[in-house]
Amino acid sequence: MIRIEPHPWDVMLRHALDCYPRECCGIMLGTLNDGDERTVTAAIACRNSYEGDQSDRFELDPKDQLAAQRLAREQKLEVLGFFHSHPDCDSYFSATDLANSWPWYSNVVISIVGGALNQAKAFRANDTQTESTEEILTWPQS
Ligand SMILES: [Zn+2]
Repeated sequence: MIRIEPHPWDVMLRHALDCYPRECCGIMLGTLNDGDERTVTAAIACRNSYEGDQSDRFELDPKDQLAAQRLAREQKLEVLGFFHSHPDCDSYFSATDLANSWPWYSNVVISIVGGALNQAKAFRANDTQTESTEEILTWPQS
């Protein structure tokens, strides 16, 4: 399961709203306990570097991923996963999302419909990236 603290959630939601109607993307950092419970304590809003129609695609810049790894090390946090938005679409893990994901990491998909938050869900890919399972997600809901 994955829990997002208020500050990173603000960063993620604001980024999703700012990028609407394009997809946003970013990286989540935090802590991990023995029971594989993940707590997101920081989120980094990244540039969508996909060179094409960004209404249903995103690509993270490898430079941003390296910077996130460095920051995680400095702050003694783990890179827990990634987030992106689905403009005018539900939160689900698409075939493209699965193909572009990595096993182990949490992937939060924020659905923005008509410029407002609709829903958020988290997914994890299996080791062969052939299937994803939904992960229990909690975030500060107003
Ligand atoms: Zn997606």
